[in-house]
Amino acid sequence: MLQTHSQSSGLEALRADFPILHQQVHGHPLIYLDNAASTQKPRSVIASLVHHYEHDNANVHRGLHELSSRATAAYEGARAKVARFLNAPSPDCIVFTRGTTEAVNLVSHAWGGAFLKPGDIILLTEMEHHSNLVPWQMIAKQTGAQLRFIPVTPEGVLDLSNLERLLTTEVRILSFTHISNFLGTINPAAELCAKARAVGAISFVDAAQSAGHLPVDVQTIGCDFLAFSGHKMCAPTGIGALYGRKEVLAKTPPWQGGGEMILSVQYESCTYKPAPARFEAGTPNIAGAVGLGAAIDYLETVGRANIQAHDEALAREAYIRIGEIAGFRSLGPQGPRGGLVSFAHESIHPHDLTAFCDQKGLAVRGGHHCNQPLTRKFGLPSTTRASFYLYNTSAELERMLVILHEANSFFA
Ligand code: PMP
Repeated sequence: MLQTHSQSSGLEALRADFPILHQQVHGHPLIYLDNAASTQKPRSVIASLVHHYEHDNANVHRGLHELSSRATAAYEGARAKVARFLNAPSPDCIVFTRGTTEAVNLVSHAWGGAFLKPGDIILLTEMEHHSNLVPWQMIAKQTGAQLRFIPVTPEGVLDLSNLERLLTTEVRILSFTHISNFLGTINPAAELCAKARAVGAISFVDAAQSAGHLPVDVQTIGCDFLAFSGHKMCAPTGIGALYGRKEVLAKTPPWQGGGEMILSVQYESCTYKPAPARFEAGTPNIAGAVGLGAAIDYLETVGRANIQAHDEALAREAYIRIGEIAGFRSLGPQGPRGGLVSFAHESIHPHDLTAFCDQKGLAVRGGHHCNQPLTRKFGLPSTTRASFYLYNTSAELERMLVILHEANSFFA
């Protein structure tokens, strides 16, 4: 079990796995609290990339030589790991993508392009990241479907009191974030997917902020699609995955065309492979998939239930203690929450605050966090966000609180 205090030898040993953490920034020890944007990589993940390029590198699937066989085994092995990680019934339900954004674009354009028509409703929530909003706006424009939104309360949770009026039989898809990257809210994923299914709609879960932070089981959640980004869970950038329920993937047409996704090609036409190959046109991010597999191995050694307890303990403490500092308030529910806290100051602009923190070696994020409509709804120009992961310590949290106190004096 992870400890939340830095004296813990377990946590110190774990931190030793992450070379990047052990450096000074602007003359101070780095405190990396920007994990909701991207996480750091353990040595085992970095080593898996080096090993792949030094020993096994070749293109997958097409070659009949040893290196291609090894690269293919590693790539398909990573797919099997992702399937186990999500408790998907089969690796054939896993499509590798660049990340969550590409997965939403794939589903909105391929599935939405084929099945949405004028009068249909795409149901989203008011707390979606732009990547689970803009692709739906694009496909709504193309198909004549309309967007509808589940509102967010001032406390930062979904207002489900009128769900029956929103989730009508015109809704074809409900797409929502599992954990809000802006508020830290954990949404009731299984309940929402069941309600979507009850009106004949399919469901898409954006698990960008949850897959690496808590146990995610697609069969328990009961979703039709679920997507995550590797770089937010110790894996390299440029790799992620889309889970699709077998029956839904089978009737979804391809999105991009090219090599690897076809069965047979004539000059005028072609036939397509079944999923997942149908959705992976061209040479994939082979090394990225290998790195993702190594990241999953790493996270499973620590245990996602342990990671969740660790992250949430830090985030809850941060939520309460930031709110106690003069001029500051924390946003979103106190708990249960994901491992991040957004906060606002009555007069210091988040960009100034973030720059001040950076000068002290503290990496936090200031901005709208790709949630412009919700930031506006809360009447804020932007916020500052601290986001925790398995290698963060309570000593780092204490140091952040000191820096926020110092900011009050500095900007007074
Ligand atoms: N959804 C959520 C909730 C996110 O936090 C993010 C990344 N901030 C994304 C989607 C997009 O992920 P990516 O940029 O890795 O595609």
